[in-house]
Amino acid sequence: MKAVVLHEFGGPEVLKYEDVPEPALRKDQVLVRVKACAMNHLDLWCRKGLPGVQLPHILGSDVAGDIVEVGEYISGLRAGQRVLLAPMNFCNHCAQCAAGRQNFCPEYTVLGYLNDGGNRELIAVPQVNVILIPDDLTYNEAAAVPLVFLTAWHMLVTRAQVQPGQFVLVLGASSGVGSAAIQIAKLFNARVIATAGSESKIEKARELGAGYTINHYQQKISDEVKKITAKRGVDIVVEHVGSATWEESMKSLKAGGSIVTCGATTGAEVKFDIRFLFVRQLSFLGSYMGTMGELHDVLQHVFAGKLKPVLDTTFPLREARAAHERMEKSQMFGKIVLNP
Ligand SMILES: [Zn+2]
Repeated sequence: MKAVVLHEFGGPEVLKYEDVPEPALRKDQVLVRVKACAMNHLDLWCRKGLPGVQLPHILGSDVAGDIVEVGEYISGLRAGQRVLLAPMNFCNHCAQCAAGRQNFCPEYTVLGYLNDGGNRELIAVPQVNVILIPDDLTYNEAAAVPLVFLTAWHMLVTRAQVQPGQFVLVLGASSGVGSAAIQIAKLFNARVIATAGSESKIEKARELGAGYTINHYQQKISDEVKKITAKRGVDIVVEHVGSATWEESMKSLKAGGSIVTCGATTGAEVKFDIRFLFVRQLSFLGSYMGTMGELHDVLQHVFAGKLKPVLDTTFPLREARAAHERMEKSQMFGKIVLNP
């Protein structure tokens, strides 16, 4: 079968489209033909080299496709069913997994990070990862959902506990997490302020439900937030940008507000005045992926049409290099999807 394989770390040119052996199906696994695999920033980090990533490596966290074959121990699934895959691996037997807190499992990892992902034609996974999708959801749409909607749900609903009427500042509306967070905040009847870097992206953020928008290249985020909220500040900032925005995120918070973060795209080290943190009683909340229960919860809203996958472009898998280049230039709004 064909796959995109990393034999070395580096730029988009290290992505090689080549033949690899088909996965051997274990008795407790399901074999899925990959129809669509969405990209995430994690793909770029892994390609450049992250601790723990073993070479050769196959990227890809967000998979949708068809069941080809089920192992002998599998019941309740059959060949031909349309599915998406939970974008995570976990042991499924430790105390955390048994309690439904898979993202606290010592073996928890993102699909395509410390193991081979979906940038290939066939993938074998445990049954727990396989989730049936409705007929009216395309493979590309289904692949655009899991990682970013799960991440945004865990951030806003579980960690920051978003409430109706709250002001939520979503940084980077054009990112996968940003476009999911806008919709989830709206689903909970919060008031969304979104930032984006161009007029066309700002327009799309408004279409997704942002009532207020800020051009983060032309306007100072915290100044605009103060105007929008009558100097009050926001209840929650959805952070994933990191060093470039952290200070503005802090200044945008109301007293008692929370920054919830899942990423550091522009850099991981920030400085801040501890006095500002305690006097204003701010909360910094870390968030990493989410649980299987949360994934099923957020998918119910997607399947009901309340939350919509945001697709940017599709590329044939063999053109993965061009897809990586597009993502690196931040040209996209929503998800870039690869089709094997
Ligand atoms: Zn576990």
